[in-house]
Amino acid sequence: APAAPADADLLARRASVLADVQEHYYARPPRIERGWREHLIDTDGRVYLDMVNNVASVGHAHPRIAEAAGRQLRLLNTNSRFHYAAITEYAERLAATLPDELDTVFLVNSGSEAADLALRLAMAATGRTDIVAMREAYHGWTFASDAVSTSVADNPHALATRPSWVHTVAAANGYRGAHRGVEAARYAPEAVAHLRALAAGGAQIAGFICESWFGNAGGIALPDGYLAEVYAAVRELGGLAIADEVQVGFGRLGDWFWGFEQQGVVPDIVAVAKSIGAGHPLGAVVTTRAIAERYRTQGYFFSSTGGSPVSSVVGTTVLDIIADEALQENARVVGAHLKGRLEALGAQHPLVGTVHGAGLYLGLEFVRDRATLEPATTETAAICDRLLELGVIMQPTGDHQNVLKIKPPLCLTTASADFFVDMLDRVLTTGW
Ligand code: PMP
Repeated sequence: APAAPADADLLARRASVLADVQEHYYARPPRIERGWREHLIDTDGRVYLDMVNNVASVGHAHPRIAEAAGRQLRLLNTNSRFHYAAITEYAERLAATLPDELDTVFLVNSGSEAADLALRLAMAATGRTDIVAMREAYHGWTFASDAVSTSVADNPHALATRPSWVHTVAAANGYRGAHRGVEAARYAPEAVAHLRALAAGGAQIAGFICESWFGNAGGIALPDGYLAEVYAAVRELGGLAIADEVQVGFGRLGDWFWGFEQQGVVPDIVAVAKSIGAGHPLGAVVTTRAIAERYRTQGYFFSSTGGSPVSSVVGTTVLDIIADEALQENARVVGAHLKGRLEALGAQHPLVGTVHGAGLYLGLEFVRDRATLEPATTETAAICDRLLELGVIMQPTGDHQNVLKIKPPLCLTTASADFFVDMLDRVLTTGW
């Protein structure tokens, strides 16, 4: 149905006051007014199941976050150079979720800032500037985080326009790409060989950055042992290992609180954001004391609202909610149920290529042909539009935009997971 006149007016105003490049989901988006748990409600009172929102990690409009933020806003909110308890309490709680050596916390406001700061820390600590990044990644919009982002879905010219200090290795995708299935074990030695060649050619490698579970490519686990091999080589060459956990970390994977745990490694620098603030702008970099100290070579560090009293209280409350509501366990249990049901769709619908992921970070990849893996890009877009009509918010991801990015709030119920699969089944059965 066409947008209601009032919405058309608001969309026109949006188009004239924001730049075109700031796209919104859907050509005719519902105008949302409220959220509740894994649901969004539009101005007509229509309810949508939000299967895409890893920002609203603990569920939309969580009353404990509203209460904690409101109480803190009425008491005190100020820049982080003042002395107050909340920033210390939160930083301690955040560091406690990580391995012991990652004991020093920087608080910022977004994932882009966290990735940017992580790169800058690697450069400061090593006194070098070359960074190696995995292709098909997205790490943010700021100058440095954008420089290491080569996902063509976000920027078609990405690879051709990298600054000279950015080098890339292949996306370690065991489903499509140069090495498939058991052959995926070849990605790590290939990346290591490339790192060595770069160093032999004079590159001074400051760090290697990638998502420790490949969210941007559709929730794909890196091949077993990949990070262990690549991190070892980076360190041997004098660089640092940077993990971007902005999308995949913080309990979403169910079996692991952090993506790097699945790889059995400990990074030198970890960047986090999105879910840690449950929609409130909050990002963090956690690293070792020794690396953090080296930032001094760049001057001092200060982010006005990074770790403000309100941000810190929100961050602490998010951690409390994850523990009290057993949301990591919910991600594990509901995620396993959901993945099983999605995989079962493959038996009836040839368009289903595979289901990536774990817990509540899943990616359903659509292909036109299971042998050639031709991406079903236009079909995926049409399926997402049809799902909206059926009350489900879903969006494509990946360089071919043919993977459903399934990353709902962690409080997703089994009933909601079933509703999603039933609607997807209906679309695949009746057409899109
Ligand atoms: N890293 C990853 C892996 C991301 O997915 C994103 C956002 N999509 C970012 C960094 C940037 O985060 P933000 O949008 O909060 O700046």
